[in-house]
Amino acid sequence: MSRVYNFSAGPSMLPESVLNRAAAEMLDYKGSGQSVMEMSHRSKEFQQIIDGAEALFRSLMNIPDNYRVLFLQGGAWTQFSAIPLNLMNGSGKADFIVTGQWASKAQKEAARYGDARIVASSADKTFSYIPKTTAADFRQDADYAYICINNTIYGTVYKKIPDTGKVPLVADISSCFLSEPLDVSRFAMLYGGAQKNIAPAGLTVVIIREDFIGRARDITPSMLDYKTHADNGSMFNTPPCYTIYMCKLVLEWLQKYGGLEAMKQKNEYKAKLLYDFLDSSSLFKGTAAKEDRSLMNVPFITGNEETDKKFVAAAAEAGFVNLKGHRSVGGMPPSIHTAMPVEGVERLVAFMSEFEKTL
Ligand SMILES: *Cc1c(COP(=O)(O)O)cnc(C)c1O
Repeated sequence: MSRVYNFSAGPSMLPESVLNRAAAEMLDYKGSGQSVMEMSHRSKEFQQIIDGAEALFRSLMNIPDNYRVLFLQGGAWTQFSAIPLNLMNGSGKADFIVTGQWASKAQKEAARYGDARIVASSADKTFSYIPKTTAADFRQDADYAYICINNTIYGTVYKKIPDTGKVPLVADISSCFLSEPLDVSRFAMLYGGAQKNIAPAGLTVVIIREDFIGRARDITPSMLDYKTHADNGSMFNTPPCYTIYMCKLVLEWLQKYGGLEAMKQKNEYKAKLLYDFLDSSSLFKGTAAKEDRSLMNVPFITGNEETDKKFVAAAAEAGFVNLKGHRSVGGMPPSIHTAMPVEGVERLVAFMSEFEKTL
């Protein structure tokens, strides 16, 4: 069997040791005589799994005690409406920094429920940079400010969390979840779909400060009300049990690796391999502003669509899959999320260098 290197933004690669462990436990989870896939979410085995996953999130991310960790479904997209339906309930105002498609979609969805203002945007240059803002840019009576920390499609990342003054900050961390340390206490809420970095698809994790729970509108659907899930230990209805189990295995793998500081070093090393190559290549060019470059997504182009196509096809043939760019930017945006091994990036760089010589 030969496994490919999957450079997709998501679903993305999972650590091989995690997949092997899941395979070994598939038919009989710890002597229970059943698979986690078949198990009641009310069983003591599953309770241990979800409690274990939460404990690992807390220790890996250093989550303060006054924050809750919620295991939800519906993807990041569902949060685009859940956030305003829970938090946009004081002044009815929220301030957005639009750094890409995902932040833009979140702003548009929030605008259906209230005054969702765009504070700053990098749309003028195809979202290739992070706009600079100061606390004075935010309306100090806004219910929250919103950012997307790592911009998956455009390969930019916030290196420094923006100052929003007194305005509580909400952030989408879908594509950088657990890729490096993050100061949770700076945020009212963090959330992300798990399929980019920490599990298969089907799980959305919300980390929210307790005092932001219980502010939903009367019309907020029960399933979108954070209080519903916080009061029921994320088991108001059937949670995505197997994905939570897989997530726990990935978190155990991360912990064994040395936690987020060690993971950050590995991610920096992988990203540098690609960026150094791009900066020295005469064919390939990185598209994101240097000072805002993401560790997770490294979009590049050749400047010629035909050559891009040829490269994507040749790369797929050689076992580097999902390199084709999002239709809005084109080019090649390899996602090198947490589970992408170093040799996957080394081999891609070697392949790019060979490809360049053949032209
Ligand atoms: C992929 C992605 C989303 C959308 O996630 P879904 O779980 O598919 O809804 C949102 N935000 C960011 C930053 C993403 O990378």
